[in-house]
Formats: sequence, C-alpha cells, structure tokens
Amino acid sequence: MSDKKRIVIVGGVAGGASAAARARRLSEDAEIILIERGQYVSFANCGLPYYLGGRIADRSRLLVATAAGLRKRFRIDVRTQTEVLRIDRPGKKVAVRTPEGAEQVIEYDALVLSPGAAPVRPPVPGFDHPRVFTLRNMADIDCIKEYVDTHKPRKAAVIGAGYIGLEMTEAFRELKVDVVLVELMDQVFGPIDPEMAAPLAEHIASHGVDLRLGTSVQRVDDDAGKPVLALSTGEKTPVDLAILAIGVRPETTLAVQAGLKIGPTGGIAVDEHMRTSDADIYAVGDVVEVTHLVGGGAALIPLAGPANRQGRIAADNIFGRDSRYRKTQGTSICKVFDLAVGMTGLSEKALKKAATPYEKVYVHPSSHAGYYPGAHTLSLKLLFDPADGRILGAQAVGAAGVDKRIDVLATALRAGMTVFDLQDLELCYAPPFGSAKDPVNYAGFVAANALKGDVALCHYADVAAPRGDQMLLDVRTPEEVRGGTIAAAANIPLDDLRERLSELPRDKEILAFCKVGLRGYLACRILKQHGFACRNLSGGYTTYKAFTRALAHDDVAPERTSASDTGAEPSGGTAFPGCDTGSKACATQAANVVKTIDACGLQCPGPIMRLRTAVDELSEGQSVSIRASDTAFAGDVPAWCASTGNRLVSLVRDTGYVVATVEKRLAAQPAPSAGGCGKGKTIVVFSDDFDKAIAAFIIANGAASMGSDVTMFFTFWGLNVLRRDGAVKVRKTLVERMFGWMMPRGAGKLKLSKMHMAGMGKAMIAGIMKKKNVLSLPELIAAARAAGVKMVACTMSMDLMGIKQEELIDGVAAGGVAMYLQTAEQGGVNLFI
Ligand code: FAD
Repeated sequence: MSDKKRIVIVGGVAGGASAAARARRLSEDAEIILIERGQYVSFANCGLPYYLGGRIADRSRLLVATAAGLRKRFRIDVRTQTEVLRIDRPGKKVAVRTPEGAEQVIEYDALVLSPGAAPVRPPVPGFDHPRVFTLRNMADIDCIKEYVDTHKPRKAAVIGAGYIGLEMTEAFRELKVDVVLVELMDQVFGPIDPEMAAPLAEHIASHGVDLRLGTSVQRVDDDAGKPVLALSTGEKTPVDLAILAIGVRPETTLAVQAGLKIGPTGGIAVDEHMRTSDADIYAVGDVVEVTHLVGGGAALIPLAGPANRQGRIAADNIFGRDSRYRKTQGTSICKVFDLAVGMTGLSEKALKKAATPYEKVYVHPSSHAGYYPGAHTLSLKLLFDPADGRILGAQAVGAAGVDKRIDVLATALRAGMTVFDLQDLELCYAPPFGSAKDPVNYAGFVAANALKGDVALCHYADVAAPRGDQMLLDVRTPEEVRGGTIAAAANIPLDDLRERLSELPRDKEILAFCKVGLRGYLACRILKQHGFACRNLSGGYTTYKAFTRALAHDDVAPERTSASDTGAEPSGGTAFPGCDTGSKACATQAANVVKTIDACGLQCPGPIMRLRTAVDELSEGQSVSIRASDTAFAGDVPAWCASTGNRLVSLVRDTGYVVATVEKRLAAQPAPSAGGCGKGKTIVVFSDDFDKAIAAFIIANGAASMGSDVTMFFTFWGLNVLRRDGAVKVRKTLVERMFGWMMPRGAGKLKLSKMHMAGMGKAMIAGIMKKKNVLSLPELIAAARAAGVKMVACTMSMDLMGIKQEELIDGVAAGGVAMYLQTAEQGGVNLFI
C-alpha cells in the first residue's frame, strides 16, 4: 500500500501504541489514528499493583506516554474515550462512539486490533458486588485506591493466585491489610509446576497471608455493604473488599461481529505477519492466539513483551516489510514478596498434557558465590528432550538471580540449544554476581551427565514409593539426617561409603540422595564403579520436601524443618524444635500472628533482641513472625525459645532467610537445668593468647573425658585460635584484609600473654610441654574435636573482624549469642577465658 494510506488502530496501550509509533517511524506520510476507549493511552498496566502498595508513589509515573506526547512527537491522531463499535469489512470502515456520545464512521486502509483481554468475571452470585473489584487499567486502580484511602480496610480477599492476584496480595500486605488469598488450584502461580510453587506458598503464608489453596468462592453475600465470601470449605469470610483476579479473556467482540476467524483457544487467529483472516486487518497482543515455540500448540499467552513486539511487526507488514512473529515461549516472572518466580517454555504438566517426552533435573545452587554476602539459594528446574537434550522449559524460584537465569535459559531455548550447550555458556562472573560455575552451567552439567549415562536419575515418585527390589540410601551426615529424611532410607554418609559398601545389597537398585543432588551423584559414581545399580534423586532431599509440601497443599504454613533440609548448610548439628502439635495446627497458629518483624540486615544478637522486645509486648497465645537474614538466627531462635519457655510454632530456613513464628507463653518456664546443675560445660574463648588457649582446651578435653557436653564459644580475638594456618583465598575488603594480616593466623602463630620475648618464651613453654608430655595446642584442638567438644564461632565477631567460615579449621559451627546462652544455662560450669 502507499504510505499515504490511513491506519486505524483499536486500543492505545501495549500493542496498539507500539504499532502506532512504529508506523510513524516507517512513514512520515501515513495518517495514523489511535482509538482508545479509556482516558489514557500507553499506561503501565504492569505497574498498577505497585502503585497501590506504595512502591510507585507517583501516579503520573504510570503514564508512560500521554496522548499529547504521542500527538506532538509522532503526529498520531490519538482519540481517547472513543470506542470502536463495529467493523464494516467490505466498506473498510469502523463505527466509533465519540466522547460526546455521537456515532462516527472512520475509513481505513489498514486496521490493527489491539483491544487486549478483559478480566474474567464468571456468573457466580455476588461477583457483581460493588466491592468486588477487577484490575486492568488506570480507572480500576483509581477506584481501588480511592476505596482503600477512604475506608482504610482491614481485610481484603484476593480471589486467584496468578500473577495479578499475587501482586495485589503483596500490595495489600504492604498497606498492612490482612489478606485471605483464595485459589481454586492446589498451588499458586498456575503456569509453573506444583513442587516449584510449594516454597512460594510457604513464603506467602509466612507474610501473614491466609492462603486457601484448592478452595473456591461459591457466592458473595452482602453484610451491611461489605462482601462476605462463601467458600467451598463451608466457611463464610467477611472482608472489606475483594479483588477478582482469576484470569483474562481475549476481547474478541469486534472480531467476532466482523466475522474474523477465531482460533480454538478463543483468540483471534493470525498468521506470522499478525494478519487476521482479512488481509487488511491485523491483530496483536492479548487478543490473539499464538503458536507456542515449544511443541507448536495454539495458546493464549497474555504478556506485555509479545504484545509490544507484535505491534511493531504488524506495522512493518503494513508498510511492506516482511516481518514475522516467531512464536511465543511464555517467558515470565513475578515478584512474590521477597522471592521471584520465573519460567520459560513449557512446564512439566504442559509437556505431560501434550504427551511430549521429556526429562528433568533440579538444582539448588547459590544465586552468587556463597561466601560473598547476600547469596540466596536458587531452585532451578530444567526440562529437556531425552533424545537430544534440546531445552523444553525452565522454572526458577529464589530471592535473587531468578531473572538472570531465566533470561539466559529463555535465550538458549529460543536459539534451539541443548543442555550440552548450557555447559559451554561463558557467563559473567564475579562473587557478588554469580559463580564460576553459574547455576545455568550447573543445570547443564547435571542434565548432560544424565544424558551421557554418567548417572541415572530418579525422581520424587520413585523414592516416595520404592519397589521391593530398590533401596533408599541417604548419603548425608547423621546431623542432617536428624533433621528429617525419607522413610525407610538407610544412612551411610558419602565420606564413609567406600568403607561400608559391604552393607549394601547387590541384588537391589539403590536410590541415593543427599541434600541437593551433588553428594548423591558422587555416591552413584562410586557405587556404579563398584558394580551396584544406582540412581540419584535429582534435586535431593530439598526437591523431595518441595514435592511433599506441594502434595499437602492445605498445609501451607511453614512446617517442621531444619537447616539441612532447606538447602542451608547444617549449623553444627543443632536440632531445631518445630511444631509440637503437628503442621496442620501450625497453620492455624501461624494465622494468629499479630506482629511481623523484619530483622533482615541485623547481625547477632540484633534479631534475638528484636524478638525478645516483640514477645514482651504480646499477650499469652499471641504469636510473632520474625524474618532474619543472619543465618545464626536459625540456631538462636530454638535455643532462645527453649530457655525462655515460649513456643516455637514454626521455623523455616529457605532461600537464605530464616523465618520463625514464636508464640508467647506466659507460664514460660526456663528449661530444666537452669540451676547450673547440668552436665554441660561452656567456655567462652575471648583471648588469642597462646597460654590461655592451651588452658581452655585442656579444660575442655578434661571435661569431655569426664562425660560432659562441652561447648567452646570463640569470640573476638579467640577466633584467631580457630584460623587455618595457611592463607585461604576469600574475597575481602581492604580493611578486612589488613585485619587478617595483623592478627595471628591459627594456633601455631599465637603469642604468650606474658614473657613472650619475641617468641623465646613461647618456645620455652612449648619445649617444657613436650618434655612433660603435654599435647601441643593443635593436638589439643584435634583431641577436643575427636571427643565431641562443640566449637562455635561467634558470627557477629566473624563479621566484625572480616573472618570467613572458609578460613576456620574444620568442624567449627557458626552461632549466635542465644545459642551460647542457652547452652550456658544448661551447664554446670561456665568459663570466660
Ligand atoms: P491492553 O494493554 O490491555 O490494551 C488494550 C486497550 O484496548 C485497552 O486500554 C482498552 O481500553 C482498549 N480497547 C478495547 N476495546 C476497545 C474498543 N472497542 N475501542 C477502543 N478501545 C478499546 N505482562 C507482563 O508481561 N508482565 C507483567 O508484569 C504484567 N503485569 C500486569 C499487571 C496487571 C495488573 C495487568 C492488568 C496486566 C499485566 N500484564 C503483564 C499484562 C500486559 O499488561 C498485557 O499483556 C498487555 O498490556 C497487552 O497489551 P494489549 O495491547 O494487547 O492490551
């Protein structure tokens, strides 16, 4: 067509505004008319929930481009508050209703439809209640915000736990509004697989949301103007307002009336040029049916990225450029409080539905180098073709790094790459950003190992119901196993496996597992080379737990857990008390939380002090939920509860944070043994003087040999006693490095507190000790470790002095002051050296 022709565009937001701007860039001569029913064009629908929650404070920031701006810069004839009523295809005209209410006819040479998708509002009685809102545009959010600002609601219902429902839930919690989140499915965020959604559900519940999975709203009644939700559980839930966010439906009214072809999913059928069944009419955005990049099925995937690109492609083709839309792969991400969930390609359930063969792996690496502050566990699921390793889909959940990994995997999927290619990707790395083996490389290694036959994989279904000719083998340490394992699993720690092969049956297939899959893989390599049949549980016990949580969907409150089964490293074998009444009761208790504390960023003893203050202010039976980023808090909080008699309702250590719920008990009784008559002995080692360290270890060894439980708590200069003698490569600031140089590195470098005399005094003492058959300090330390003396390094001091865990000798746990105090209270002897 000639550039002089007129282009009429219906819908002035993502797809429509993109088409209009691109058309102008391609032709200065074209007449471009952009018709929008609402008051605004080109606004940020994706930002609306964040405006309600207050993260986006300035409403005008949502108006990405204004009608006046589009007119001025692009000479686009923008007509807002104008609705297209009908399309006259033979006459190539549209009928519109003007803002004044008059009907007008506009001719076109090319018509672009980008009317979007409307929120689904099924005919459930009461869904038309004036306080049941939907969210699509500026007018909707203005209504909701006005209601919230005026009526100061205390409780909201969000119906539907898709991304809009989740974002609105978070927005209400930011406003301190209680939320009941009702979802018909057994999981939140429907596009991903249930086991990947399980941590999200827990996380949502930990933010005080009353999450009801597998529940529907059957009716909305009215009580003095307020909605009362009648749930499928039989409950009646009165709220101040409700948000209906159960999905969207393409706005095809115009297309249907005009006789354009509609696809099987209900969206307008278009070709790869975004052309409808009428050669002069294009359609883009949420209203069209797309072809899925993986598998090629017809799909409705309402996302802003595709809408924008399609608008551009439609304009290209109008001006004779052969521009093609190359299918949609469904790359998406959603913020869920402190977590992010992202995906690309097809999920496992979608692959199953399409009967597409697939294999899968799970990995749980750190978002960046674990030793650099702020690293979080990232759970990544990779789906691929078992025949050639082609990537079919990926999902990730975590507090950091999700977007980067999903974007890399989306690019790899788009490029038709295989899991073998992922191994070779050279991705940027420095400790604050990633790892030398990035999670994407790592997923590639694990998947490639499986395809190459280096290790055979098994999954949840295998270990949940093993056959008679199979045996479950947990290769984690006994400390980790104490925190929970799979029923009937035998335990042989990986490091003992070679010596204990005779304990394993040769006539059974061994299903090995560890925490995240790495030690299970190593175990399988050993077993395979010794002639055993073996498979490794992909994702280890961490993924197993996610499955069990997903299956117990009605039990979304954090359940009994330990450091070892949530992906964090075990902290010196501390057993974490959990729910004492079963996890279902925990769910009820967690819902009674009256206070939520964010103690993230505080170092020990900050979180425990905040907890104490909060609990002091509670009445009996009330609970507080506290979240901390200091990992030592996971050991401190059970210890604090045990010593104060308050009840630890739940404790979750996931994705790098510790979330505890504590119930106030007025009749709080300190744990027995507070009278100092216990068998425990504690020694605070504050000094790094050679002689004092010797004295401390001699006492510790002596007490241990007399049957006492001994805990040595190393703080400040005392930490130097535990340092490895050689230099350890860790990343430090300049000040930390200088501190490290100035302080003695390990037991061999300590000085005498008196008469050191440039080392002569120390040499003399060492000589005398040898003569008198007194063990050297390193020998005393080794003996103490062998005797079961617990050595705890104070996390706060480590942080202050820039000492990293890797610099300490083996067998040292990290802990906080509460852990020490609880041990001390149970002890009969407590020394400060
Ligand atoms: P829209 O952007 O919906 O625009 C359609 C416009 O057409 C509407 O303004 C409508 O008024 C107008 N219209 C309809 N019929 C007529 C008519 N007959 N005459 C005149 N005008 C008409 N996507 C993401 O990828 N990431 C996100 O984080 C994200 N968050 C979102 C959050 C919310 C709250 C919402 C509502 C959507 C979100 N989306 C997100 C989806 C994304 O906004 C849509 O995919 C995208 O806007 C679709 O663009 P579109 O042009 O097809 O439709």
